[in-house]
Amino acid sequence: MNAPETRHLALAEQYARAERLLLINGRWQPAASGKTFDVYNPANGEVIARVAEGDAADVELAVGAARAAFPKWAALPPAARSQILWKVGDLIDKHAQELAALESLDNGKPLSLALAVDIPLAAQTFRYYAGWADKLEGATTQTNLPNMHAYTLREPVGVCAQIVPWNFPLLMASWKVAPCLATGNVSILKPAEETPLTALRLAELMLEAGVPPGVINVIPGYGHTAGAALSAHPGVDKVAFTGSTEVGKLIVQAASGNLKKVSLELGGKSPNIVLADADLDAAITGSANAIFFNSGQVCVAGSRLYADRKIFDRVVDGVSQFAKSIKVAAGSDPQSQMGPLVSSTQFDRVTSYIRAGREEGARIVTGGGQIGQRGYFVEPTVMLDVNEGMRVVREEIFGPVLVAQPVDDLEQIAQVANDTPYGLAASVWTRDLGKAHKMAAMLKAGTVWINTHGALDPNMPFGGYKQSGWGREYGKESIELYTQMKAVYAQL
Ligand code: NAP
Ligand code: MG
Repeated sequence: MNAPETRHLALAEQYARAERLLLINGRWQPAASGKTFDVYNPANGEVIARVAEGDAADVELAVGAARAAFPKWAALPPAARSQILWKVGDLIDKHAQELAALESLDNGKPLSLALAVDIPLAAQTFRYYAGWADKLEGATTQTNLPNMHAYTLREPVGVCAQIVPWNFPLLMASWKVAPCLATGNVSILKPAEETPLTALRLAELMLEAGVPPGVINVIPGYGHTAGAALSAHPGVDKVAFTGSTEVGKLIVQAASGNLKKVSLELGGKSPNIVLADADLDAAITGSANAIFFNSGQVCVAGSRLYADRKIFDRVVDGVSQFAKSIKVAAGSDPQSQMGPLVSSTQFDRVTSYIRAGREEGARIVTGGGQIGQRGYFVEPTVMLDVNEGMRVVREEIFGPVLVAQPVDDLEQIAQVANDTPYGLAASVWTRDLGKAHKMAAMLKAGTVWINTHGALDPNMPFGGYKQSGWGREYGKESIELYTQMKAVYAQL
């Protein structure tokens, strides 16, 4: 490892060790209860941080601060909001090494991955929405009513609770906070209890960029306390959530008290389809990355592989070889291509799915075991002889576990690919453009990739069909999520 990387990892450890507090109304403060919770290094299970544990009492304070800050932030000239958010993007870039080290330490992912993906995309997300701040528009409409001047105004929703997961902690926080603030709303952010550190650092950078007190508040804590209090609070106008479908349903229930707006980015069980005429080298590498990237802890992971029967063995063999070649190691190891799972809970969950697969009759062709005795490392795993009735085929595992099945014609492929309660993403590998676009139309998924997997751009909408979510984030769709339209009729 080179000297700057070592230095940044040491700085990240130092940052984690310092007293980490809640941010309410521009002030860092302990939880009202005085409680803290431990944060672990997934590579060795050691405690790296003690963070203030926010709960309902702190949510109360944060909602008060956010409500008070909202009118002024909403009334700020849009170009001023734009400038501040642009600066947040620049500060993320400026601190990229440090943020990547912190993310790697907290989540376990390879430092190189955080540096290549999480951090630059987070900066780009802030700049993309900075660009939107002064481009919000309503419209004038020619109504059927005589002498009527009619137009629409686009206005912010208000106080937004934003609850994010642990798989891309800084990036998911950015997806939420940037469009929220760009459109004149204010945020109360709850990072996942497993990975609160980069959200706290982000908030520091936001204050440095000039985000006023109360416009960004951060309440680390548990979902069933802080998260539940935020989703139920009558002073919160909108809740935006990324995480499991199960918790998404709880949030919908909690939100029903004041019918706050709800947007949800939930789980997936995304099909990755390889047709016989595909560029097999590209398809094999792409299919392996689709499931093993970020240790499979990706909502759009290509976790179900369907390959044409004629090339099935070759594809499975290629993906298995790739799996065996992956260097699984602590994120701080410069050779690491895949880190541990995020937590002991996630480790138990993933290994129990591997056991369930075995018990249900699946054949494990590669992987299937734990790596080492410390930390939460699981081998990249490929399972065959599976069918639609099995839990490993139906349920989101959220780990480096692939199930593969042979398929025959397009209609059958679309039918099995769509046979899931989820609908987040899908990919198709083929050289036949006609087939590619036919499949794209047949697949019930919010994102379809052709001859690639996982490509993302802030300019494109992202979200789920079916139980993979409500609403679309990214692109101008996020602007719509964070604004509401007012119709104005003026009799002339
Ligand atoms: P999760 O419980 O859905 O966590 C996501 C966020 O929601 C966290 O900040 C969590 O807080 C919070 N939360 C939990 N219960 C809540 C409640 N009742 N009200 C409000 N907020 C609540 O996900 P997880 O338990 O960490 O992971 C479990 C599974 O979820 C994974 O195995 C995976 O299948 C899926 N998942 C999907 C995504 C995705 O991007 N689609 C991301 C993460 C996980 P805590 O940190 O305290 O739990
Ligand atoms: Mg959790």
